[in-house]
Amino acid sequence: MGYRKSSQDKLTIKKPKTRRTWSISPVTRVKESGKVYKRKAKFSKKEEEQEDDLYFKYLRKDEDFRYCPRCSAELIKKRIDHNLRKVCPVCGFVLYRNPTPAAGVIIEKEGQIVLVRRKYNPYKGDWCLPAGFIEYGESPEHCAVREVKEETNLEIKLTGLFRVYSGSDDPRTRAILIVYLGEIVSGEPLPGDDASEVKFFPAKSIPQNIAFQSHRQALKDYFSTRRPA
Ligand SMILES: [Zn+2]
Repeated sequence: MGYRKSSQDKLTIKKPKTRRTWSISPVTRVKESGKVYKRKAKFSKKEEEQEDDLYFKYLRKDEDFRYCPRCSAELIKKRIDHNLRKVCPVCGFVLYRNPTPAAGVIIEKEGQIVLVRRKYNPYKGDWCLPAGFIEYGESPEHCAVREVKEETNLEIKLTGLFRVYSGSDDPRTRAILIVYLGEIVSGEPLPGDDASEVKFFPAKSIPQNIAFQSHRQALKDYFSTRRPA
């Protein structure tokens, strides 16, 4: 889909080319001869059932989309690119589901790590790294610096990329957490946005209640790889 400006500088929307989005039909018709060939099924019935189970495991009823967000027709399930997906039988929209990228920062100061306490659910009251979801059009680095500022009031600069984690224990979405290393440039720690507390913790007294498996793993990895202070 594309937008272009006409000579009158009026925004006109170019109609997207209709793209064939259905999975490959088991029957292929060869144009020239009109002969019909049967294509060998890619998946056995059992494999397809297993895959369907996975689909529903990760697509909970309450977060499922029933209607096409583009034309509001009821979505149907189709196998596309080896995965069962919801597609629109009217306009061809395919509901691709991808993990949501997030960025967080490990900030160490005099042997202590900055953690924030979660003000809201999920995991309200637990501690985690300052982190948040990347906005559409925002870079991961920008997101990391912004989230730290919003949650801790600290101005930081990123000093490197630590590691990337995938998370499946956030009930809102599956996530990819990009963890950076950062150092404080200025500012006094003050909780803001969705943080109720900001605190510096030495390695040996990191709280037990760390929200999200990816944050727990990042902290564990960080303390096991960093040089002793
Ligand atoms: Zn549609």
